[in-house]
Formats: sequence, structure tokens, C-alpha cells
Amino acid sequence: MATSASVQDMPVRGEHLVLDLVNTTFVRGGLRGQLIDVLRTPADLDEWVADHRGPLDLAEPCPTLDGPDGPAALAAFVELREALRRLLRAAADGAAPAAADVAAVNSAARACVDWIELPPSGEGPPLRRFSCDDPSTVLRSRVARAAVDLLTGPDRELLRACPAPGCVLFYLRSHPRRAWCSTGCGTRVRVARHSRRHSTDRR
Ligand SMILES: [Zn+2]
Repeated sequence: MATSASVQDMPVRGEHLVLDLVNTTFVRGGLRGQLIDVLRTPADLDEWVADHRGPLDLAEPCPTLDGPDGPAALAAFVELREALRRLLRAAADGAAPAAADVAAVNSAARACVDWIELPPSGEGPPLRRFSCDDPSTVLRSRVARAAVDLLTGPDRELLRACPAPGCVLFYLRSHPRRAWCSTGCGTRVRVARHSRRHSTDRR
């Protein structure tokens, strides 16, 4: 069954930047549902980037990845996403991360650095300079830096893998009552418990 879904269809959005990247894959349809990936084309990635301009700390205009190098940029982004998924899973489980995944994030983080310079007149807004001019590398370095912040900072303690059966999403337990990635998952689990209880009662 062909299913079309876009970044706008992500069931959980507006979490930490790194979670919003990993959560671009999700299951639609519950326990026996279908795994959906909304980052399938460079244009999808452009949409995700535009949606996260703030957390990515991007100036206008947004870099576009939907060009000749788009497929390679997408592949590199997805590779980083999968390393991040495994790192989030390990952190949520209290397990040791794979050395290769740590190395992947560190390599992306140092692939591009940026700094500010004085403009020639010595006044006015600072000039932003980058050690690389490839937009895909700039973006991956931003995501990697955000991942380092997340996994070494206080939010790490809040990181959870959603416990709803069949769900693959991550969230930050931003308040003590948050037990699921979304109200959708909470409702699904409550409905399943309810019908299980009723079928037990009838027996
Ligand atoms: Zn969930």
C-alpha cells in the first residue's frame, strides 16, 4: 500500500530538534501499523529544514538541498538520523552507546564550524562565516551540535522512548504526567486496556 505523508503529518512535532529529526519515522495504524518515513526526497528534507529554521539557527534564506547534490545530502542526513536514533534509544534505556554512532555525531559536529566577524566598516551587524560552504554539511553540523547538547545536558534525564505498543517515537518528559509521546498513543493504550478488561469480564 502506497502511503504519502509529509513533515506536516508527523504525529509529534515541536520537540527538541534531534527528536524532531528522529521522529520523522513513525508508525501509522497502531501495533500492526505501517512504518512511515516522511524524509524520502530532498524536497521533504527542505520542508523539514524550513520547519526548523529557528532551532537550526539559520538566517534567511534557508539553504536548499533539492539540487543536484540533493540525493547525497538526503542520504547523509538519513545516516546521521539513524545514528541519532540508536543513541537516543541507548540513552533512554540506560545502555552504552555504540562507538560508531558517537563517532558519526562527532564527525558531523566538527565538519563545519561558524563564527562571526566584524564587517569591513567596523560597525553594523556581524558577518557570519562558515568553515565550509556546503549547506548539507552546515545543517548536519547543527543537528550534531544539538545532539551533543541534548545527550550531555540536563534534558538527557527527561528523554523517553514512548512505551505504547508499536510506537517508535521519542519525547522529553517535560512534565511528570507525560507518559506517552502524544495523546493519540495515550488514548490507544487506554482503549486497548479497557477492551481487554471487558473481554476478561465476559469470560
Ligand atoms: Zn507514542
